[in-house]
Amino acid sequence: MKSLILYNSDGRELRKFVPLKEGEAGFYCCGPTVYNYAHIGNLRPYTHWDVLRRVLKRFGYKVKHVMNVTDVGHLTDDGDDGEDKMIKGARERGMSVWEIAEFFTQAFFDDMKRLNILVPDVVCRATEHIDVMIDLVKRLEERGFTYEGGGNIYFDTKKLADYGRMALLERQELRHGARTQVDAQKRNPTDFVLWFTNSKFANQAMIWDSPWGRGYPGWHLECSAMSSKYLGECFDIHAGGMDHIPVHHTNEIAQSEGAFGHKWVHYWVHNEFLIMKGGKMAKSKGSFITLNDLLEEGYEALDYRYFLLGGHYRSQLIFSSESLNAARSARRSLMGRMADLLREAFPCSKDDLGLAVRARLEAFDTALGEDMNTPRALAEVWSLVKDDSIEPGEKLAALFSMDEVLALGLASAGRESRQVAADGELSLLLEQRGKARASKDWAAADRIRDELLSRGWKVVDTSDGSRLEKSE
Ligand code: AMP
Ligand code: ZN
Repeated sequence: MKSLILYNSDGRELRKFVPLKEGEAGFYCCGPTVYNYAHIGNLRPYTHWDVLRRVLKRFGYKVKHVMNVTDVGHLTDDGDDGEDKMIKGARERGMSVWEIAEFFTQAFFDDMKRLNILVPDVVCRATEHIDVMIDLVKRLEERGFTYEGGGNIYFDTKKLADYGRMALLERQELRHGARTQVDAQKRNPTDFVLWFTNSKFANQAMIWDSPWGRGYPGWHLECSAMSSKYLGECFDIHAGGMDHIPVHHTNEIAQSEGAFGHKWVHYWVHNEFLIMKGGKMAKSKGSFITLNDLLEEGYEALDYRYFLLGGHYRSQLIFSSESLNAARSARRSLMGRMADLLREAFPCSKDDLGLAVRARLEAFDTALGEDMNTPRALAEVWSLVKDDSIEPGEKLAALFSMDEVLALGLASAGRESRQVAADGELSLLLEQRGKARASKDWAAADRIRDELLSRGWKVVDTSDGSRLEKSE
């Protein structure tokens, strides 16, 4: 199995990936909160997690990828304050919370498809897993981690010895009071709500029965409950945005390790943010760029994928039209090279690859194995394209193989170019037949007509000349 090194936020070090079960990888990523369109920053993590999933598969793992869809409980401040994002979104658009969830979930998956992001093996909606969440709170209750305050059920962060371990909250003095304490019911500033019954929102439409009264779950609960349902109480990789380290993921760890009594996730991977020249892009601010905006400006979705892969997932990436234009030109030129190669040759079989091209593929895999270094992997693609010592057929085979991870649509360059080539050949044949007829070379004209027929085209001669029609 090829070596994959990942930067583990839990411990803050690069570590070789060793799965819990040989040959298998269980992988969860926090999904979207579906109260609005995803902005192009939101699409950054899902693109990189798609690469991670494809790399794991390439390296021989049987992958199970799980992603949630947050359709309840995510408050505007990521903690227990503010308003439920779904309610806010519904009010602003004059739709019900259920309608808004349906509409934006669909919009999100449309974006994923356009970006060639594979749909996770399991997509789980929070509202369909309330029972699993309730079970988790019960377990926490049995193990003495909860308390009731003003009708809500809280997690007592003092009860977990290493609460805030991944975020180093201790060092940042957040654990003991630096967070502003707005909820008077909380015993400690970092405590958080597991189950709200005393809803702050009179118009809360999404509520369920529970042992603690009718209410709804805290946001962090869904990820702990659903990931463990589908991947087990100890699994390999959990991914999400950097912004989730101090609150959301810290609290996910607290709930899960509190309930299960052991280490929960082995590798935590976090992406850095896409930032606009003018600063951070936030969905809650209302003004942001969506993939649709880019399409309307004439970019292709895969230009944006190329742009994203040009940055390492753990580095901030600055978005500007200049950098997106550069990505578009680079992708176009790559597609052009592909089309040229396809006109010249057919991809050779993997068994026929020579040493030089194998070395290039090896370098590509090494780049990906070193903490998913996609910028280096792209550079390897270009080195291969420009390497004159490698035969076109070998290049094609290697490029198709690389595109299994990059998913930049190189195969479609193939299809288009084959179509163009095929169309070109047909018109050439028709033209040659015309010339043969003009010079009364009937035998040659008939031979070409039969050739066209064997390719599925019937020649129709009219007073305006000859044209082709699909034969039955
Ligand atoms: P949300 O739908 O708001 O829950 O966010 C979905 C994901 O997008 C989360 O994992 C966030 O960490 C991530 N995210 C939000 N803004 C950005 C950004 N500007 N760049 C990269 N990731 C982001
Ligand atoms: Zn989550």
